[in-house]
Amino acid sequence: MSQAENNPDQEAAKNQRHNDRMKRKKEIIDAHIASADQEKGLMIVLTGNGKGKSSSAFGMVARSVGHGMKVGVCQFLKSRTDTGEEAFFGKLDKVEWHVLGDGFTWDTQDRAADIATSERGWAIAEKMLNDPSYDLVVLDELTYLLSYNYLDKDTVLDALQSRPAMQHVVVTGRAAIAELCDIADTISEIKDVKHAYKDGIQAQKGIDL
Ligand code: ATP
Ligand code: MG
Repeated sequence: MSQAENNPDQEAAKNQRHNDRMKRKKEIIDAHIASADQEKGLMIVLTGNGKGKSSSAFGMVARSVGHGMKVGVCQFLKSRTDTGEEAFFGKLDKVEWHVLGDGFTWDTQDRAADIATSERGWAIAEKMLNDPSYDLVVLDELTYLLSYNYLDKDTVLDALQSRPAMQHVVVTGRAAIAELCDIADTISEIKDVKHAYKDGIQAQKGIDL
């Protein structure tokens, strides 16, 4: 037997209280939406140790492509070119996809080579940040190049700040440095609550790559 059948008066009062509360909530939300009347290119930082940073960035790539926007993606550090995201987005006319890494630093074990690779990759990213035809630029795993000092911090921060006014940029990677967060409009820190990897599950196609 449902609660309504159990006690109709109490249930009706409860429904009324809920409806009143929702009405008040809607008024507050509508007022907030009406007051948010600015438009600008956003800088978004997705950081933290949990899973979901790069895949969130690729979600925004999908949204942008859906709107006919032009997107540039620079994947730093990683060298693999067999990911589902690259196979899917890389063939679209509106998406320019660059895999700019040489493997993780613990793979290369060669700091000088990592710096050279980072600088080559950065040159491509910098061009995108200077070109207003890109509506969205994703700098996947850029945070590490700053935290390891592989790139000059001021050069990167200046390029991000002087990008075209309507260009959105998404930066991903763990341990985003404070200066990067200072210039961001939106920051999400993804918390690692649980990860299958710790149970010995290897990276799964469609989920992790
Ligand atoms: P994703 O690309 O799945 O959104 P991510 O960008 O948040 O992950 P990265 O640090 O770039 O995280 O991780 C790269 C790979 O490591 C991905 O295959 C991801 O699933 C996996 N991974 C992410 N977070 C964790 C974690 N906390 N422990 C173990 N593996 C992780
Ligand atoms: Mg990632």
